[in-house]
Order: sequence, then structure tokens, then C-alpha cells
Amino acid sequence: MTPNELKYNMVTIAERLSCAYDRVIKAEQNSPFSDTVQLLAVSKTKPIELIEDAYDAGQRQFGESYVQEAVDKIQQLKDKKDIEWHFIGPIQSNKSRHIAEHFSWVQSVDRLKIAKRLNEQRPNNLMPLNILIQVNISEDENKSGCQLSELDELASFIADARQLNLRGLMTITEKTDDEQKQLQYFQQMRACFDKLKHQYPQVDTLSMGMSQDLEPAITAGANMVRIGTDIFGKRQ
Ligand SMILES: *Cc1c(COP(=O)(O)O)cnc(C)c1O
Repeated sequence: MTPNELKYNMVTIAERLSCAYDRVIKAEQNSPFSDTVQLLAVSKTKPIELIEDAYDAGQRQFGESYVQEAVDKIQQLKDKKDIEWHFIGPIQSNKSRHIAEHFSWVQSVDRLKIAKRLNEQRPNNLMPLNILIQVNISEDENKSGCQLSELDELASFIADARQLNLRGLMTITEKTDDEQKQLQYFQQMRACFDKLKHQYPQVDTLSMGMSQDLEPAITAGANMVRIGTDIFGKRQ
């Protein structure tokens, strides 16, 4: 990037971030829930300079999906100690160690095997890893996430695991023009979340909604949205 492009992007990222927050606040005001909604800035595939721009504009929570790319970025930005890194991508078991060592949140845990590995691999000198269980609520064959029937067993293991801290649920819903159906999926997730919170009082996070669908997600009770494109622009 040339210095001019960088400067242009700096203005843009701060402005885009501010627009994204405006959308979130507006949706929050129209929501029947009193939860405060957090915004995770999804920086996967985007260069470090843009993350720094967002950081300079006040953003502290960032989401990444590809392990090697993420670890490189985390190491380059290690002086910014107040960044909270969330892993949100599919997890291959041979990559779980890097995730356990470098992130503070993992939103995409969808099977016992991965939960066990993360618990064993989380270094003892670090705080327990905050975990969201990813649920495949629309039972979309192409999406990762556990089935609802698997949720209890997974939640119970994570809640008992010494190096894991069960914080809630995450979902990615299929792209659909059927807004009613989409809203129903989000509402089903909120119902599961309320049930889980009742069983495990430390549960406080329901992560759903992206650039395309953050309004219906917040209306249905999301308290964390994951925004990539609207802040950092389209990905290749
Ligand atoms: C990429 C990604 C996002 C961000 O999606 P946008 O449509 O770019 O806002 C959110 N959540 C997950 C799990 C992702 O992989």
C-alpha cells in the first residue's frame, strides 16, 4: 500500500467502524432484550495495517478464521496487549494447539474431541480459554456446528474442564431470502442460550449476526455480532 492509500484507509476504517457501531446501537434500541451488544471486528484475510487502524479507532475485539494467518498477526501485534483475539473458523485437530496457545476466545467449538484437545493444550500460565459452542441451527449440511442434540454433552464437558470457560453459543445461519425463517433460527438460538445460562450462570455470550444480518440477530437476542465486510471491505 502507498502512504496515500494507507491514509485513505485510515479514515475509512474509523468511519466504517463507527457506521457499524451505529447500526448495532440502533438495532439494540429496537430490541426487546436489554443486553448490551458487543461488536467483534472480523479481520480474516485483511492486512495488519487495517487492524491497527481499527485499534487506533478504539476497537479491541478481533476475530480470525485461519490459524497460521492469525498467529502471524497476533505475534506482530503482541505489544497491543489489550487486544482480545477470538478464533471463529473451522478447527482441524492438528491445529488446535496454536489456537489454545494464542487466543483468548474460541467461538467455533463443535465437537468433544476439539474441546478435549483445547483443554489439554491450553497453557497453565494462561487464563482458561473462553469457549462458545457453535450450533448448526439451520442443519445446513455445508456448515460446521454441532446439532442441538449434541449440545448438552458438549456443554457439560466444557463447563467442567479446568482450562476452559463455557461462555455461550455461536451460530452462522445459511444465507436466505426468507427473513421470517432466519428470524426463527435466531430466536431458537436465543431460547437455547437462555436455557444454557440457566444451567451454567457463567454463560453470558450469544454470538450471531454478521454484516448482512446483524439487525434480525440483535432483534432476536444476540449480544455479540461478528462484522467483517462492513468494516474492512470485501474479501477476495
Ligand atoms: C467471515 C466471518 C464473519 C464476518 O462476515 P461478514 O459477512 O464479512 O461480516 C463472521 N463470522 C464468521 C464465523 C466468519 O467466518
